Amino acid sequence: MNPSSIDLTAFNTFGFAVSASQYVPVRSARELQNYFKAAPDAPCFVLGGGSNLVLTRDIDVTVLHMLAQGFAVYEESDSHVLVGVQAGHVWHDFVMSCLNNGWLGLENLALIPGSVGASPVQNIGAYGVEVKDCISKIKAWDRLHHKWAWLAAADCAFGYRDSVFKHQFLDDARTQPRYVISKVFFKLLKDPALWQAKIGYGDVAACVAQIAGDAVVTAQHIAQAIIQIRSSKLPDPQVLGNAGSFFKNPIVAAQVAQKLKAQYSTMPMYPQADGTVKIAAGWLIEQAGFKGLREGAVGVYDKQALVLVHYGQGSGLELMAFAQRICAKVFEQFGVQIAPEPIVY
Ligand code: FAD
Ligand code: NAP
Repeated sequence: MNPSSIDLTAFNTFGFAVSASQYVPVRSARELQNYFKAAPDAPCFVLGGGSNLVLTRDIDVTVLHMLAQGFAVYEESDSHVLVGVQAGHVWHDFVMSCLNNGWLGLENLALIPGSVGASPVQNIGAYGVEVKDCISKIKAWDRLHHKWAWLAAADCAFGYRDSVFKHQFLDDARTQPRYVISKVFFKLLKDPALWQAKIGYGDVAACVAQIAGDAVVTAQHIAQAIIQIRSSKLPDPQVLGNAGSFFKNPIVAAQVAQKLKAQYSTMPMYPQADGTVKIAAGWLIEQAGFKGLREGAVGVYDKQALVLVHYGQGSGLELMAFAQRICAKVFEQFGVQIAPEPIVY
């Protein structure tokens, strides 16, 4: 490693040992603006909590580490509140602050690692809720026009683990994102009478019932249940390197789903509003024989086949080769293409 470079092992939750030749911590919107005013066309890599990344090589452009913290209320009525949150704020800390302040809507998204600034990038989702439903607008540095841009939620093309931020780049190689998110504004409910518990997903209702007992179900009960379920099923990146679900659930046409169901009656399928059908990628991977399988320094987590893990001393390239073998076997067995969710560099 060159002496001026920075080791990024602790800055990516897979724990891959790569370095960055230049590293700039960004602790405020002003610092972000100053950086881009001074180096408007310099290539960069935007880093949040590093929990949705596979780093396969050293980063040879400046790493901008988004570390600005804090949030403030911008508007408030009897029913709602508009809160602006700095990009570097830890997502789970914000969810907990919402619960403490009586702001409702994000409770199902408790314990997702990473930063607030990255939450719109893949429209984080869990247990039947997507962050897009609470995002009002976003303030981002527009590297195309060299100025601040305000994006309303409707401008963000939010989709299943997808948004405009995964599609607009300055270069053909798609390494230089157009927008760097500085602040995310959430419109959250204040009035509990308008709030509806979303507990229809998997074990959530049963776990909430156990926690709440005879009491009226609150957002706190839901967050507590989600934290309990997640902690029992997902590996802690501090203990075992991972980036959560490694593959997106494939979405297929209804006719394709029908044929698959006829052949594999137990294949979990979830019909989507637009008529397509979501298939559980974890089931496909398990059926293909990979659940719990270890190959060298990488493997598939034994409690959840959607999660790839790094046992240490391995590389992003090794992980990607393993992932490629999983995709090929799933395709060979089911004719269904699965694709990685994390950003690969
Ligand atoms: P990073 O990994 O640092 O970056 C991810 C991408 O966003 C990169 O392309 C980066 O350049 C870009 N980016 C980061 N910050 C900014 C910014 N300010 N402006 C512009 N671009 C930016 N995801 C879910 O959706 N649901 C889950 O339930 C979930 N559970 C997880 C559980 C575990 C154990 C782990 C390890 C991951 C999980 N994830 C989940 C994935 C991950 O936590 C989320 O995608 C998270 O939003 C990534 O945030 P980050 O700050 O770590 O982003
Ligand atoms: P799970 O509950 O075991 O479910 C397996 C898969 O089936 C999930 O991927 C989920 O799709 C789908 N599913 C289950 N019940 C569903 C329902 N009622 N309606 C629609 N789809 C349903 O999954 P898990 O791994 O324990 O994760 C639980 C939740 O946390 C999921 O929402 C998952 O997306 C989220 N999570 C995401 C990551 C990540 O890195 N992206 C990591 C961990 C957990 P969906 O994924 O589309 O919900």
